[in-house]
Amino acid sequence: MKDVIVLGGGPAGISAAIYAKRAGADVLVIDGGSSALLKAKAIQNYYGFESISGEDLINRGVEQYKKLGGEFLRGEVLQIKNDFDAHTYIVELKDKSFEAKAIILALGAGKTVDGLAPFENANVSYCAICDGFFFTGRDVCVIGDGEFALSEAEELAKNAKTVYLISKNAPKTQKMSKNIKIISKNIVGFNGKDMLEEVVFEDETIKVDGAFVALGSLSSFEIAKQLGLITNGNAIEVDKNQMTNLAGAFACGDCVGGLLQVSKAVGEGAVAGIEAVRYVKMIDGKD
Ligand SMILES: Cc1cc2nc3c(=O)[nH]c(=O)nc-3n(C[C@H](O)[C@H](O)[C@H](O)COP(=O)(O)OP(=O)(O)OC[C@H]3O[C@@H](n4cnc5c(N)ncnc54)[C@H](O)[C@@H]3O)c2cc1C
Repeated sequence: MKDVIVLGGGPAGISAAIYAKRAGADVLVIDGGSSALLKAKAIQNYYGFESISGEDLINRGVEQYKKLGGEFLRGEVLQIKNDFDAHTYIVELKDKSFEAKAIILALGAGKTVDGLAPFENANVSYCAICDGFFFTGRDVCVIGDGEFALSEAEELAKNAKTVYLISKNAPKTQKMSKNIKIISKNIVGFNGKDMLEEVVFEDETIKVDGAFVALGSLSSFEIAKQLGLITNGNAIEVDKNQMTNLAGAFACGDCVGGLLQVSKAVGEGAVAGIEAVRYVKMIDGKD
C-alpha cells in the first residue's frame, strides 16, 4: 500500500511527486514515457533556463525525484478502480497492480480522433468498462494502438457481436477473443447523421453501432470516465487544492486544461503533491 501514486511522469507528475516525497509520503510514479515535453526541442520560457530541451528538463526532474528516494516505474496504466469503504485506489497495469490511499492524475492532455467530434455525445465513448454494456450484441470498433486498445477491445468482446480493432500497431497475442477483428488500415472518414454509422477506409466501409477511442495509453479523460470524475470537455475539473470530485483523487497539468505550459503544470503539481499528503495524513488520523 502506497500513500500516493502519481500517474504520469511529465512536469506536473514529477513536481507533485517531489513535493509529496519531501512531505514524507511513500510515493510511486508510474509513467509511460510519452510526455508532450519530449517533442519540444527548445524550451525558452521556463523560469531559470534560457534554453533547454524538453527531454533534458524532464530527465532533470526525474533524477531530482529519484535522488529523494522516490520510486519510479516505467509502465502503462490500463485501469483505475476505487474502493470507497477502504479509502483506497487500485491502479492496474498489464501484469501487476498497486494500491494507494491517494492518486494524482498527471497524464497530460487527452487524445482525440479527427472527424469523430460530431458523434461525441452520441455513440462515441472513451471507456469500454463504462459503456460497453450498451453495445451488447452490436458491432463496435475500437480505434487505437497498443495494449490499451487491445484491453478495451477484450472488454467489449464480452458483450458485443463483433469488435473491429482499427489499429496500425495491434499487439501480437495468441489469446485474442474470436469476435475481435483487426483492421490495419488508415481511416479516411466517418459517416452518420446524428449517430456514427460507418467507418470509411480507402477500399472499404464498415458499419458500426458505436466507436471507442483508445489512442496510445489510457488517457486522463478515460480515467475520469472510469472513476466518475466530473469533466469539462476533455479537462478534469478540480478545486483550488487540485482535488477532483472524488476524495483522494487529485489532478494537475495539461489534463485539467487551461494554459498548456510547463510552468502551470509544475505549479499545479506542487499543490497536488502537498494536498495529497495532507489528505493521506487526515485519513490516517495524523492531522
Ligand atoms: C511540440 C511542443 C512544444 C512545447 N513547447 C513548450 C514550451 O516551449 N514551453 C512550455 O512551457 N510548454 C511547452 N509545451 C507544452 C508542455 O510540454 C506541456 O504543457 C507539459 O508537458 C504538460 O505537462 P504534464 O505533466 O501535464 O503532461 P505531459 O508532459 O504530457 O506528461 C504526461 C505523462 O503521462 C504519461 N501517461 C499518459 N497516459 C499514461 C498511462 N495510461 N499510463 C502511464 N503513463 C501515462 C505519459 O507517458 C507522459 O509522460 C510544448 C508541447 C509540445 C507538444
